[in-house]
Amino acid sequence: MPTDNDTVGNIIHWAAKKLQHCGIDSPRLDAEVILSHLLGCDRIRLHTYPDKPLQHIIASRYKKAIQRRAQRVPLQYITNHAEFMSLDFYVDERVLIPRPETELLVEAVIKKAKCFIHEDEIVIIDIGVGSGNIAISLAKNIEIARIFAIDISPDALVIAKMNARKHQVLDKITFLHGDVYEPLKSCNSKTKAHFIVSNPPYIASAELSLLQKEVRDYEPLTALISGHSGLEIFERILAEANSWLRPAGFLLFEVAEKQARQVIKMIKNTNIFTSIQRIKDYQNISRVLIAQREGHIGQNRN
Ligand code: GLN
Repeated sequence: MPTDNDTVGNIIHWAAKKLQHCGIDSPRLDAEVILSHLLGCDRIRLHTYPDKPLQHIIASRYKKAIQRRAQRVPLQYITNHAEFMSLDFYVDERVLIPRPETELLVEAVIKKAKCFIHEDEIVIIDIGVGSGNIAISLAKNIEIARIFAIDISPDALVIAKMNARKHQVLDKITFLHGDVYEPLKSCNSKTKAHFIVSNPPYIASAELSLLQKEVRDYEPLTALISGHSGLEIFERILAEANSWLRPAGFLLFEVAEKQARQVIKMIKNTNIFTSIQRIKDYQNISRVLIAQREGHIGQNRN
């Protein structure tokens, strides 16, 4: 471990070696990202001044942060930042780290929202808001969006609200605490939604041990796991979809690898959807399902 005369260059060298030794995939990158975070500078500046001495307090914080990373704490929980849809989100152990695949769901909603461009507002229900990544990026990208963002975890709601404030969309989002649609029932909103969206906890409890240590040991289990098969939550969202989704409205789910077929079957069984589309992710896995409810736009809104 480097000591008193730590410089930017030698402390990064030490950290990268330590992280590599612990089996971290991108040791040098992680070492640099953590230091630039603590110094509040761009990574590129670290290369410009490798001989710059580090203040004792920074060096000591850095060493602690590197120890955490070595224990597989995800990088985003160490820096408290995650990027999603080109927006910066505060994250910590209380919320799931937003994943790039989820951007596919958000992009699909933005595209489909064009169908409702002549409405006064576009009502969206987001079930399992987490850090607020989906709700907030929709609020930023859809001018007339009015969003109900629900989570069973009060901790997640604290973070989602913080992120909404930071991105100045608090007035477009109503945050509700509770299970699936439950809190909507007491908030007096009778308007049915144009969209129901969810990236729900979809991992089967038996598969927990197969996950990366970063995910398994540090991300919140309530955000990851849904019962025995991982499919229960889809069933529960679908069971009441007809009460909350208006005619011609869209339901979008993010699903796990190998779940698409079963979830499509569940969607079909409701008998209220006319079309179901799937979007593949960057690894060619069916990741997002889009189902449109029967009916036409503007029909029977309440
Ligand atoms: N909506 C959040 C996300 O997509 C949280 C999802 C969750 O907690 N399962 O990351």
